[in-house]
Amino acid sequence: MNKDKILAFNHRVARNVPGHFYVTDACNNCGLCHTKAQKWFHLDGGTGKAYVWHQPATAHDKGEVHKMMSQCPKHCIHDNGDKFEWPKDNPFKKRVG
Ligand code: SF4
Repeated sequence: MNKDKILAFNHRVARNVPGHFYVTDACNNCGLCHTKAQKWFHLDGGTGKAYVWHQPATAHDKGEVHKMMSQCPKHCIHDNGDKFEWPKDNPFKKRVG
């Protein structure tokens, strides 16, 4: 896997739930994903960064999240989270569906 992808994962927002999609700290809170796709994205008011709070399960829902990925002005939504080992002490429970 290329270095940029590993770097992105290491910069993920802590509140992302483990899974395929995640947001990095490059988020500038433009508001797009957590207003248009609230089913999967929330805003962390403390940090001002969006995060994935619910991982999509169906092909349709994954497509909706990919739409947000392609429209994110900071290119900080990634879809390779399942290629990494998430810390076991992550306090944010995985939600999929
Ligand atoms: S679309 Fe990108 S920059 Fe905008 S709030 Fe979502 S993750 Fe942040």
